[in-house]
Amino acid sequence: MEKTKVILLGDNIVSNLLKILLNKQKIDYVNLCLPKKKLETRFYAVKPSFYQWFEDNFKLPFSEFYPIKNIDIFFKQEKITFANEHSRPFTLFNMTNSDDIFKTIKHFKLHAATEVNDITVKTDINYISLTSQNIQGNLIINTDHRLNESLGVIETVNNTQEFAIVACFATKTSLENKAYQYFYNNQILAILPFEDNKFSIVLSAKDDVIKNLLSLSDQNFEKNIQKMCGLTSISLLTERQSYPILQSKVIKNNLSRMIIMGDAAHRVHPLAGQGLNLGFGDVVDFSSLINQSSYHDYGKANFIKKYNIKRAADETFIHYLTSTIDAMMIKQGDFFQPLMKLPTKLINNSNLIKKLLAEAMI
Ligand SMILES: Cc1cc2nc3c(=O)[nH]c(=O)nc-3n(C[C@H](O)[C@H](O)[C@H](O)COP(=O)(O)OP(=O)(O)OC[C@H]3O[C@@H](n4cnc5c(N)ncnc54)[C@H](O)[C@@H]3O)c2cc1C
Repeated sequence: MEKTKVILLGDNIVSNLLKILLNKQKIDYVNLCLPKKKLETRFYAVKPSFYQWFEDNFKLPFSEFYPIKNIDIFFKQEKITFANEHSRPFTLFNMTNSDDIFKTIKHFKLHAATEVNDITVKTDINYISLTSQNIQGNLIINTDHRLNESLGVIETVNNTQEFAIVACFATKTSLENKAYQYFYNNQILAILPFEDNKFSIVLSAKDDVIKNLLSLSDQNFEKNIQKMCGLTSISLLTERQSYPILQSKVIKNNLSRMIIMGDAAHRVHPLAGQGLNLGFGDVVDFSSLINQSSYHDYGKANFIKKYNIKRAADETFIHYLTSTIDAMMIKQGDFFQPLMKLPTKLINNSNLIKKLLAEAMI
C-alpha cells in the first residue's frame, strides 16, 4: 500500500493552493479528484490581505487584478460609501478571474490530480486509507463538495430558491476603480469592474425573477441592468450564466483524520463575494497551524480540533452576515427593507463602523 502524509481530494482553486503549500513545506501528499467538470472563466472579488499572504509566502504575485478602491452600496434610496480610507493599507478588494489564478498555479509545475471514479475510505486509529486506490495516509483533506456524501459528512444545505446570473459588460463610462451594489426590488445587483471600461455582474433574486431575466433578449437584459445601475451605454460581452444559490455548512464529520475545506466545507450566498475567500482563509489558517506546531501527524485529533476552532469564527460570521442580508432584502424584502433606513444612516455617519466592517471583510 502506498504511504503518504496527506491525501488531498479535489481539483479546484483551493486544492491547487494546498498543493503549492504542501510542496513548499515538503509534506508528502497524493492528490485525487473525481472526473473533471467543464471549466468556465469566473470572476472573483478577492481579499487583498490574501494577495499579501500569497506574495509573502511564495514570492510571487497571486494573480493579475484590478483594484477596487471605492464601493457605493444602495439600499433603495439610502447609500453607504466605503472608500480606500476605511480599508487602508489595503484596497477594498481585488477583481481577478479564474484563468489568471490558474496561470499563477501553473507556474509551480505541480503534478495534475489523478482522476478516480469513486472513493472508499477506511480509518484506523493511526492512519486512514483509500481502499479503492490502495493508498494510506495520516490525514484526508476534502475540497470537493461532491465527495461529502461518500465520506459520510453530514451538513445542513439550505436551498434558497434563489439563483444568481453572472455576465460581463463593456461600458463607455470610465469606472475608476469603483464598484456598486444595489439592493432593489427584491434583487441584489453587484457591479464589479475588472478593467476601467469593463465590469462583471452578480445579480441574485428568486428563481422566477431570474428565469424571466434569462428569457430576455440581450438588448432587453442590457436595458434592465442599465435601469438598475444608471451606467450609460453598456453592452454584454459574454453569455449570461446562472447558478443556484446554495448555502451549506458541515455539522458533523463522522470520519476521524479528515479536514474539509473550500466549498466542501461551506457555501455562502454570493452577495458579499466571500465564498472563495473563505476557502482562502482555510488554506491560510491551515498553513499557520503547520508553521506553529511541531506535529508529525497532521491527522491527530488535537490538530484537527485546533484547525476547526480556528476556522469557526470566520465561517459563522460570513454565514450569519450573508443569510441575514439575504433574508431581509430578497426573501422578505417588502417587510424588512424599510427597516434598513436607520442602520444605513448609522453606518454612513460612522467612519469607525465602516473601518470595522472593512477590516472584517478584507
Ligand atoms: C454567482 C456567484 C458569484 C461568486 N462570487 C464570488 C466572489 O466574488 N468572491 C468569492 O470569494 N467567492 C465568490 N463566489 C463563491 C465561489 O464561486 C466559490 O467559492 C468558488 O467558485 C469555489 O471554487 P472552487 O475552486 O472550489 O471550485 P470551482 O467553482 O469548481 O472552480 C472555480 C473556477 O476555477 C476553474 N477551475 C477549477 N479547477 C480548475 C483547473 N484544474 N484548471 C483550470 N481551471 C479550473 C473553474 O472553471 C472555475 O472557473 C461566488 C459564487 C457564485 C455562485
